[in-house]
Amino acid sequence: MTNINFFGGVDEIGGNKIRVEGKNESFFFDFGMAFSKANDYLSEFLQPRKANGILDFVELGLLPCIKGIYREDYLRHVGLSYPKEPSVDGVLISHSHVDHVAYVHHLREDIPIYLSNESYLILKALEDTGTSSFSEYLHLKKTFYMSPKVRGDGYKRTSTKIKRDIRIVEPYKKFNIGNFQIKSAPVDHSLPGASAFIVEGEEETIVYTGDLRFHGRNPELTRKFVRKQQRPIQPS
Ligand SMILES: [Zn+2]
Repeated sequence: MTNINFFGGVDEIGGNKIRVEGKNESFFFDFGMAFSKANDYLSEFLQPRKANGILDFVELGLLPCIKGIYREDYLRHVGLSYPKEPSVDGVLISHSHVDHVAYVHHLREDIPIYLSNESYLILKALEDTGTSSFSEYLHLKKTFYMSPKVRGDGYKRTSTKIKRDIRIVEPYKKFNIGNFQIKSAPVDHSLPGASAFIVEGEEETIVYTGDLRFHGRNPELTRKFVRKQQRPIQPS
């Protein structure tokens, strides 16, 4: 049986973090920021303390308290344990709006991130040019590490840049996470590269739309995706 848990994106706009669990495998649809919750506590000049690892985010209910998904440097810095293996097998990103992708920053680098090529390029631009201290989508800079100075006494901060496990998916081309067979389907939205996902499990099919529209520049993409999901009605 497949379990689906919603850690955001229900009765609110964005903030989607939806975990799908099979017998031996699990993944998330998106890992975004919930604007409504974030606005309750934060503003442009009032952000969570980076020095507090993920604790501010979890305490304020912005991130779910789940073992085995968060980055080692943030956990270690606040004295939390870091399991050897991640507890999820992937995150499927529907598109690069922050309410769907922002909190990828907090995830371990060994959790594969599946996304379209356009979404990858948008995240690369955001990561390369962004000024936010929480925009490590494709790489992760390990922080809170010290090493002895080469000359003289004392220690200096070190920061190692590590590549995340990025997997670019082709439209309608199957890939697997455990026993789930997955395809991405391009849809129209207000930024390029938006994708829905069609997931076939052992017993059921799950369709995740992400954000889509029928009135934009490429409505035929959305229509094609919808057409492909229509099943002939079985006589009872
Ligand atoms: Zn969107």
